Amino acid sequence: MDLNRRDFLKVIGLGAAGSALPGCGGETAKLIPAVLPDEEIVPGVANWYASVCRECEAGCGIIVRVMEGRAKKIEGNPDHPLNRGKLCARGQASLQGLYNPDRIRGPLQRDGERGEGRFKPIPWEDAMSRWVAALQKHPGGAVLISRPVPGTLAGLFSTFMKEISGTVLFYEPSAERPLRAANRKSFGIDFLPDYDLANTTYLLSFGAPFLSHWLSPVHFGIAYGEMRQGRPAVRGRFVQVEPRLSMTAASADRWVPIRPGTEGLLAVAIGRLILKEGRAKLSREDRCRFEKFYDPFSIDRIANETGVAEEEIVRLAREFYTAASPLAIGGGIASEQTNGTDTLVAINALNLLVGNINQPGGIHFFQPSGFPASSAEVVGEQALLDLKNRTQKPSRALLMLYQSNPLYTLPPSTQFRQVFEEADFIVSFSPFLDESTAMADLILPDHFFLESWGDHVTEGIAPAVGLAQPVVIPRYDTRPVGDLFLSAANRFGGGLKERLSWTDFRTMVREQWQDFFALRQPAQPFDAAWVEALQRGGWWKPEGKPVPISQRGAPTAPEPARFEGSEKEFPFHFYPFPSMGLHQGEGANRPWLQELPDPLTTVVWGSWVEINPKTAQEYGLAERDLVRVISPYGVIEAPVIFFPGNPPDLISMPLGQGHTFYGRYARERGVNPLTLLAPLIDPPSGGLATGATRVRIERTGKRGRPVLVDQTGQGAKRHTEEGEA
Ligand code: SF4
Repeated sequence: MDLNRRDFLKVIGLGAAGSALPGCGGETAKLIPAVLPDEEIVPGVANWYASVCRECEAGCGIIVRVMEGRAKKIEGNPDHPLNRGKLCARGQASLQGLYNPDRIRGPLQRDGERGEGRFKPIPWEDAMSRWVAALQKHPGGAVLISRPVPGTLAGLFSTFMKEISGTVLFYEPSAERPLRAANRKSFGIDFLPDYDLANTTYLLSFGAPFLSHWLSPVHFGIAYGEMRQGRPAVRGRFVQVEPRLSMTAASADRWVPIRPGTEGLLAVAIGRLILKEGRAKLSREDRCRFEKFYDPFSIDRIANETGVAEEEIVRLAREFYTAASPLAIGGGIASEQTNGTDTLVAINALNLLVGNINQPGGIHFFQPSGFPASSAEVVGEQALLDLKNRTQKPSRALLMLYQSNPLYTLPPSTQFRQVFEEADFIVSFSPFLDESTAMADLILPDHFFLESWGDHVTEGIAPAVGLAQPVVIPRYDTRPVGDLFLSAANRFGGGLKERLSWTDFRTMVREQWQDFFALRQPAQPFDAAWVEALQRGGWWKPEGKPVPISQRGAPTAPEPARFEGSEKEFPFHFYPFPSMGLHQGEGANRPWLQELPDPLTTVVWGSWVEINPKTAQEYGLAERDLVRVISPYGVIEAPVIFFPGNPPDLISMPLGQGHTFYGRYARERGVNPLTLLAPLIDPPSGGLATGATRVRIERTGKRGRPVLVDQTGQGAKRHTEEGEA
């Protein structure tokens, strides 16, 4: 059933009238703001609940259809400014997280050697006592590695860890750390911007995978649709510069292949031409600084280094500066190099040159919402590796994990496993047994997000605070992680108990909202505002207020990207990219996402190696041959798929498979390309340089069996080595 914004507002009582949805065949549907009591469960009658998707860090608004107490379907919240009723495949598949047969069903303690993955049940009371005893035994020696949780939970985690003198690290693999670091350098602003794609007339993207997994893919997917088709007289032009033809590049008007790690240099060349041809919109003072920076660069030398012809560079520059509303963005492979931050600073400079900051079709920095507990500064891989370098072991004696799986997302070459091996005690709050949780001594499983209270602050892109409520009664003997931390604070006593005196997390969330509303809409009684926020799925305003930009940083010369492995011994650049469905591996335990064909190769349920057909020919490889990929750090095997979208010297592989734990759908399926990577970092951002390792390939003489899906007019056909399946 489609639920548009008007219908949605009617249903939640904020629009004209009525609670019956049109076109529902007599069914009554309503949005209600709490867990259904038994008497409200009427067979055949659907209720809709508004909440927040937590399958990635974007935090889209969702509405969940619940019948007989079971969540049946998830749609995008039509009223939420971020995703405006749309949802990606991962959001749709979140039901398979809720009903996943491999969820951890209650507290567990280790039974066997650490890391074997053998556990036995333990009563909650005993489990809590063991955890609190460990906290008391290691004052100042506790580290919490958590996924980013912007909202009340971030405040709870931060306060808790500060009070016990511990460390909290909000870690996101391949986070947008270089983008934040670059924006700090260029604009002096510490949060992410919104890119007004919808009103851009010329989009020049350096590797940003905004149609698959960058920042907020649903938000940018909608904006991109508007840019191309939303205006009667203008169809925005889109050029993607990147070494590999990604799904985003495949949607562009023009794809410009480039040597990995040289994207920043190309941006410098374009910037130089804009200035030289007198088209920069800069103040006199800024112009002098920029001229001083650009002067030493020569276009032909840059053409030589980037592999982009001089005429192409001139064309890109002219197209860019003559466009009515040009916009340059950068991300993905361009930022996942050892010079990632400098590259993005050079790209930011193009926007400064054409003066598109806070202009229609340009970059906007919106005023943050002012929600009280929103700080969750996201860290990159370097912050985790610094744990390893702490000389005193007691400073990481108690390791806690919240929905974070660093033993899977960090390459073995970083030797991060040592932190786990040396920890005195490891506690995980994960609902799934992944690689890192398998190392735990104690597992205190969290509810799934559809069973939980919470909130999510979206800064920058569309200032909004989503409110998450439980849409179903918890299925298992799990407990919300917020309740666990509040209960531990209570047992711990002292200042910790005083600072975190809430009885449960729901009350804490409600109070944060009370403070927020007292500031934002003091005239409205809180109870009414709270119910409205629950019905609506949060709080937001139609328009954010732009933050003025005073700093205009000239680029710094991008250092040449570093690559590990000699060109002679390892002739190929290697790029492991987040898979559309499985992303960095989190989606691998959802069968719908395993079943989702890769948009460019159509492979499902496995790993593959993308090789240019010419290169494959040189190596005598046929499609589906099993090939060995070797780096200075590891070896993996996977079947070959011919991919003309790779230049001859680039090999790419999707991330997400190769789990050793993580349930029946993920375990021992495919390989994890991260095992090949060098421990190289982009220093200003502390992010892992995933594109910085060189590899070679060897034939194995064996055949692989990747399953490819062929979408025919008659439906989908699958092809394995033996033929149709
Ligand atoms: S982008 Fe997709 S996975 Fe991420 S929050 Fe939105 S719907 Fe969920």
